[in-house]
Amino acid sequence: MTTKRYLPPSALYSFFEGLPETVSRKVIGRSVNDLPISLLTLGKGKVKILMWSQMHGNESTTTRALLDFIPWFVDTPQKHLQEAFTLCVILQLNPDGAQAYTRLNANGIDLNRDAVDLTQPESKVLHDLYTLEKPDYCLNLHGQRTLFAAGKMGETASISFLAPSADEARTVTAPRKKAMQLIVELKNGLQDALPNQIGRYDDAFNPNCVGDKFTQLGTPTVLFEAGHVPNDYQRETTRRHLFKSFGLLLETLLEDNFDHPTEAYYAIPENVKDFVDLIITGVTVTEDGNSYAEQELAIHYKEELRDDAIVFLPEMKFFGVKLPLKAHKKIILPEELKNISLQFKKDNLLENLDFVSLCSIKA
Ligand SMILES: [Zn+2]
Repeated sequence: MTTKRYLPPSALYSFFEGLPETVSRKVIGRSVNDLPISLLTLGKGKVKILMWSQMHGNESTTTRALLDFIPWFVDTPQKHLQEAFTLCVILQLNPDGAQAYTRLNANGIDLNRDAVDLTQPESKVLHDLYTLEKPDYCLNLHGQRTLFAAGKMGETASISFLAPSADEARTVTAPRKKAMQLIVELKNGLQDALPNQIGRYDDAFNPNCVGDKFTQLGTPTVLFEAGHVPNDYQRETTRRHLFKSFGLLLETLLEDNFDHPTEAYYAIPENVKDFVDLIITGVTVTEDGNSYAEQELAIHYKEELRDDAIVFLPEMKFFGVKLPLKAHKKIILPEELKNISLQFKKDNLLENLDFVSLCSIKA
């Protein structure tokens, strides 16, 4: 099933229709805008894994990886996994955000900051499910922006992981240690395909984050952040690697042989905000009445939903003779555009149409 970054709830309906009878689907709650939140249950094993995706509505890559993974898991060759595991899967915890392509839910709340107060219906759905199912493991599935490097001036962080902390001191509790060890195993399994592109997310404790809370309650929880691979703004490549990582995680649990020291976890480079999407060199920039020739101009793409598709709009971020940043792409300004003096306003969209077309990406 080919999909794009925009994955509205309706895109899942045909997927649900095509599921075999061995996958049960149940509506376990409704969003602020009254959209159904579905739970898929597959497998009949003793070890229970709760996984949820798109609690941030604009993070569809992990959901799309699950659209590949679920049919794979229930297929005959994976009988040994079906007998070992029961998977409880929520593909879209925040269907309103998925519909509107927003991180937040329809009340403007970040569901990953609502784990203590549970003010939102979607938060309650997840909390109640957790309480009911008492999972052995949790997978908290997210996406991250293109801005992260795996380590200072490292490669693009195509997938990042986190074993969330359970207290301010970031103590390595037994459940946290298990999550760390699983992450090391995942990193080892992915590093040939994604060399130096696996990052470790900041582990500052925040009790309002769901992963921190479930770790606190004693469940090893692995947070996935689907990131960027150069020239793949639809993130189909990351999707494939995530699909592989879900299978790898199950095989690892099945073999029960993943005893890594915590140092191996901390050796995974931490995410650093070192990347911009694009740097154009040779630009003349005007700011506050001053003109600067031969500058590097850094661009981020702003994602916007238009006519049921995501468009990537170039936004001005920084300029300088030599920017201390990495870029997913570098362009030398063509001669015919050298005479244009670009009015710089930080965080504003590029308006000059020649520059806009220069920055366009195939989506
Ligand atoms: Zn997220």
